[in-house]
Amino acid sequence: MITLTARGLYCEKGGFYIDPWKPVERAVVTHAHSDHAYRGSGSYLVAEEGLALARIRVWSEDEPEPKVEGLPYSKKLDINGVTVSFHPAGHILGSAQVRVEHKGEVWVVSGDYKLTPDPTCEPFEPVKCHHFITEATFGLPIYRWPKPEEVFDEVNAWWRRNQERGKASVIFAYSLGKAQRVLAGVDASIGRIYTHGSVERLNHAYRDAGVKLPETIYAGSVENRKDFIGSLIVGPPSAQATTWLRKFGTPSTGFASGWMMVRGARRQRAVDRGFVISDHADWPELNEAVRASEAETVYVTHGFMDEVVRWLKEQGINAVRLKTHFMGDDAPELIDEENEAQLPKWRV
Ligand SMILES: [Zn+2]
Ligand SMILES: [Zn+2]
Repeated sequence: MITLTARGLYCEKGGFYIDPWKPVERAVVTHAHSDHAYRGSGSYLVAEEGLALARIRVWSEDEPEPKVEGLPYSKKLDINGVTVSFHPAGHILGSAQVRVEHKGEVWVVSGDYKLTPDPTCEPFEPVKCHHFITEATFGLPIYRWPKPEEVFDEVNAWWRRNQERGKASVIFAYSLGKAQRVLAGVDASIGRIYTHGSVERLNHAYRDAGVKLPETIYAGSVENRKDFIGSLIVGPPSAQATTWLRKFGTPSTGFASGWMMVRGARRQRAVDRGFVISDHADWPELNEAVRASEAETVYVTHGFMDEVVRWLKEQGINAVRLKTHFMGDDAPELIDEENEAQLPKWRV
């Protein structure tokens, strides 16, 4: 029912693509990261909860406005005789797994997902299906995330220590999803929190959707640079090598990513601290999601495809490698940085 084409995953019976990486007439999109929500399509269907983010992503005001429609989680929609519904993926606000059903056959395209609790989005919902498509960004047994509370204790302790030394703390976190998760997780009573413009813009969309974030101040609006002393500043990884960082004197720097589990990644990123905070499933979560789907066939895309396929086959599951993602070069601040990090070179 779903096939892989040069434009992306395609449901011929329904006449729509899922997360196409080239413009198509009708796109069904799992979430607003740019490797999934590609610009230029005629119409987009997304989970209602991610509508505002999808609009920001696929439309710039100098272009004609594309049709972007929202469908609430779990609600079924008939598209040319095919039943489509969205189910929370737990990845970022409004992220969804796409369930597609036709004559009793069920497919689930999970997009990016995680099972770790995250106060900024709906929790992952297991969906039973015959065919499950999963990503494998962190599909190796070495990837096991520490508890979020432990990681945020580390972040808070680092911030406090820097504050005692009269320093600012700059944490780099991908501006869509990760930054808001960092904001929701830190102890805001420690001090003031400033943001980069790309983060602040998306904070508005999160707050509008009812997600509770601490008060943040756009760093660009600050006149007296002394204000930054002792504060926490959240910016996207792309701002690291720019003059933006100079505003903050000689801050201590940190980076929030699942890749911070890899030896050498912190040094490679040239930051003082690495914090293991990921928006993707780790190894146990990936296995749990596959088990919960009860799928007879599992298609593995992106990341450690061969390793996951081999492992699942050993478990008696019919697993197939599916090479899908094309990484767009545009809007680097909106690329899913954890997937991007899989590319041979770190792109800042
Ligand atoms: Zn993503
Ligand atoms: Zn992705």
